[in-house]
Amino acid sequence: MPLQDLAAPFDSPREACGVIGIWDASGTFNLPDYLVLGLTELQHRGQESAGIAVCAGDSIETRVGMGKVREVFPHGAGEMRASVGIGHVRYSTTGSSCVQNAGPFLVGRHGEVRDQLALAHNGNVSNSDELAMLLGDVTLDSTTDSEIVAHLLLAAKGETFVDRMRSVIPLLRGAYSFVILSGGKLYGLRDPLGMRPLCLGTLGRGWILASESGAIEKLGGAYERDVRPGELIEIGEDGLISTQLVERERHAFCSFEYIYFAGAASSFDGRSVYAVRQELGRQLAHEHPAPGADVVSGVPDSAVPAAIAYAAEVGLPYTEAFIKSRYSERSFIKPDQRLRRLEVDLKFSIVRHNVAGKSVVLVDDSIVRGNTMKRAIAALRNYGAREVHLRISSPPLRNPCFYGIDIGSDEDLIAAHADTERIAAYIGADSLGYLSLEGLAQAVTLSRGEAAGPRFHSGHCYGCFQAQGYPYSAHSAFEEQRERALASV
Ligand code: SF4
Repeated sequence: MPLQDLAAPFDSPREACGVIGIWDASGTFNLPDYLVLGLTELQHRGQESAGIAVCAGDSIETRVGMGKVREVFPHGAGEMRASVGIGHVRYSTTGSSCVQNAGPFLVGRHGEVRDQLALAHNGNVSNSDELAMLLGDVTLDSTTDSEIVAHLLLAAKGETFVDRMRSVIPLLRGAYSFVILSGGKLYGLRDPLGMRPLCLGTLGRGWILASESGAIEKLGGAYERDVRPGELIEIGEDGLISTQLVERERHAFCSFEYIYFAGAASSFDGRSVYAVRQELGRQLAHEHPAPGADVVSGVPDSAVPAAIAYAAEVGLPYTEAFIKSRYSERSFIKPDQRLRRLEVDLKFSIVRHNVAGKSVVLVDDSIVRGNTMKRAIAALRNYGAREVHLRISSPPLRNPCFYGIDIGSDEDLIAAHADTERIAAYIGADSLGYLSLEGLAQAVTLSRGEAAGPRFHSGHCYGCFQAQGYPYSAHSAFEEQRERALASV
């Protein structure tokens, strides 16, 4: 296939969602405004819609809208008042981009808080079609997996919410971190494989759950730990109760969170995202040095820690080839292709002084289609770069993600169609080197001082790099259990 025929509408992996939940035991701060602030800190995880749901007296009140957090809440949360609530920023993974699909989702009879349930979801429940059939004649307001799960939970049998959760979880396939309001309490749950993140912290005398520790700390909270895979956190008047609903031997945290999605200031399970990115850069330097190069530069923002570490490892100066324009947006946000291209040009300024006449090693975190990188390399040459050697701090992206990250279909992915040499020729690089899968596995484990495990058993998902790295397989014991559970409903 001619590479220019790859017609992907974007050139970066797109985030899925960010979630937050706060329980204010003291009633001393304006919780809805804290939710809005926390969502702003998670904005990089989704820019299509934003919303909050709070327990207000005997009912749950929601406010959702399309756009970024500050567009939906230009003056904060306004008159809303509550001591418990949840929030959501979304990038569509199931269902199209419209306000009906914006979270959090409120289901149930209005008026009585214990008959209602609000849910915000990060991830993708990949068997939502078969789950929807279990709902019978329930009318759905959206086309999302999140609303289906919320209805399943509302309809599930069980004396307590924990019982209801226990009966629904075995039916779900895929990745999910939920924050939920029900019966005046706040709940948080991670899927049994722990694919998507969910962190727990304290905020004053209260509690906070958030997709990233960076959001907890930015609100003045203290990050305590990650919610464990399969663990349900329940927070109410009696404090925090942890219930391990499901225990799996194997976990599969998304390795792409470290490479690109998460904020560099966050940590997951004791691993600093920044430190992992540096380790990726060091591994990359060992695998693909660039003899004869003059300087190393990183593509802002997510590739910069890897580029700085790469430079130190090969003993070259680090320089800024690109400066991010202060008021630009990420290139995929606007849906119109022509505008998106214009934004690529507006997004960065090139520092001629740093690249003219030089052989530049450019480090980026990934290549989706390659069209943005092709333009970036052409621009560097226009500004006088003598050579451009591209180094990528992840393995080639060859497969789509079914677990809540919009990487594109394999038709969109340049590495699914071409080898490294052909990609280098297409994007105009003098040389191209990708980090190996082994290097990635080393980086996500070594950064915590552990020995690296066997390639696919180091507790991470690598599915978009190599199909055997997907955590689910049709014949696993896990899948057989799920099918039995579905058949028994
Ligand atoms: S397939 Fe890739 S993006 Fe999706 S969960 Fe696995 S590592 Fe993350």
